Amino acid sequence: MIVALEKIVGQNNVLAHGKETSRFTHIWKTDLPLQALAVVFPSSTEELSTVMKLCNQEKQEVIVHGGLTNLVGATQTEKKQLVISLDKMNQIEEIDEKSRTITVQAGVILENAIDAAADKNLLLPLSFGAKGSAQVGGVVSTNAGGLRVFRYGMTRQMVLGLEAVLPDGTIISSLKKIIKDNSGYDLKQLFIGAEGTLGIVTKVVFRLQEKPQSRSSAIVGINDYERVIQMLKHMEKGLAGTLTGFELMWQRTYKAMTQSPSGYTAPLPNHYRYYVFIESLGSDTSNDFNRLETLIGEALELEIVEDGVLAQSERELQSIWKIREDVSVLADQAQYDQHFDISLPIPVIGEEVDRAIEKLEQLDFVEKIFPFGHVADGNIHFIIGKKDNSPEIIEAINAIIYAELAKHKGSVSAEHGIGLDKKAYLSTSRTANEIALMGLLKKTLDPKGILNPGRIISL
Ligand SMILES: Cc1cc2nc3c(=O)[nH]c(=O)nc-3n(C[C@H](O)[C@H](O)[C@H](O)COP(=O)(O)OP(=O)(O)OC[C@H]3O[C@@H](n4cnc5c(N)ncnc54)[C@H](O)[C@@H]3O)c2cc1C
Repeated sequence: MIVALEKIVGQNNVLAHGKETSRFTHIWKTDLPLQALAVVFPSSTEELSTVMKLCNQEKQEVIVHGGLTNLVGATQTEKKQLVISLDKMNQIEEIDEKSRTITVQAGVILENAIDAAADKNLLLPLSFGAKGSAQVGGVVSTNAGGLRVFRYGMTRQMVLGLEAVLPDGTIISSLKKIIKDNSGYDLKQLFIGAEGTLGIVTKVVFRLQEKPQSRSSAIVGINDYERVIQMLKHMEKGLAGTLTGFELMWQRTYKAMTQSPSGYTAPLPNHYRYYVFIESLGSDTSNDFNRLETLIGEALELEIVEDGVLAQSERELQSIWKIREDVSVLADQAQYDQHFDISLPIPVIGEEVDRAIEKLEQLDFVEKIFPFGHVADGNIHFIIGKKDNSPEIIEAINAIIYAELAKHKGSVSAEHGIGLDKKAYLSTSRTANEIALMGLLKKTLDPKGILNPGRIISL
């Protein structure tokens, strides 16, 4: 197998015979050496297609590695499995300013694509903490969300064209730049959010937006969850389509971020129950700032918010958003941590988070509970710090967080995906028939079960 692989991609593009352990299984907070048969680095779609034809013929299991930033164990491997890394397919192929598109290979780091678009005064509106490591192929395969979903949608909404290699090596290429295309099934959707279980994404055409000329921000303190919802409505009405961020942080999370050991500069005192980070992207610097200032003033007068600060400079703006963007540093405050990204209808989030905190505080192995999230999207994250990482403890914490999801028709994963870690809970947000249809699709496209086996569902 190794010799055959070397013939396809060249000796320099295969790590085997112990050299594969020079890479990590899953870089996010682990430094365990990779366990795998080998790591293969194809340089083109055609090479990847030939590799997959061989793997299909040999029934060789394959795990796809992008930037390895997923939080659901999706890139874990076993010794018998082959890793395909997209690291070497990292070219930005084209920026078409007239069509407002960027065409990139799957191994391009997301931030490089964002920067390349920005150089042409265009915006690729994806933004999240791992953008400096996540690859476009991973981002598309997890249908990533982030901080601006409220205005621009998930990754899915930005993909116009896509190329993928099926488990049997067939290349499915539709690198179109058009917005409307109802000519039959929209096949690219099969691969977006499929976590690499149905095909390997090799190229993507993203739709770009005009780069906003102004960015205004504020942070407000609120004491009652109902008022958080009122504030969302107030901002949406007042900012007429330019509201791009409305991020909620619970007091305990804000305190932890602005006190030692995190020590980020606190723009507001830490005695409010909720903190909302607000962002508006527009086209008129002074008018946009004035509009936001007026709206915050009105919210204070109407007693929707208790307190508020507007960023008066780019430095202040960066300093405020750092508190939100760097929140994952809180995972370092305990020996072990567990991450959640659930979806719930916006009106029940306040009571549901209170319920979860109350129950979690009764578990003596839970040390830290940090809720925060994209409340305008109905998406809440928890970072939970704990003393132990046994399966019983993981399950006890999961049981509390997921307890009311089915009742509220929520989701066990708003954006991170299912991977291996959340598989047991898929049925809390999907019906048996839906899961059966997922299985049918998987069997149809990957009858030998060689591509990312065991992710999302087991056959
Ligand atoms: C600090 C931090 C903050 C984060 N914030 C957010 C956030 O706000 N929103 C959000 O949605 N996510 C967030 N994430 C999760 C993560 O960054 C995303 O899921 C990201 O999109 C994964 O990209 P990746 O290249 O690292 O993929 P990987 O971790 O390498 O892979 C993820 C999955 O995609 C598959 N895959 C990778 N490349 C391909 C490909 N080319 N073709 C087919 N399958 C492939 C893998 O097999 C795996 O199943 C965060 C993660 C961290 C560490």
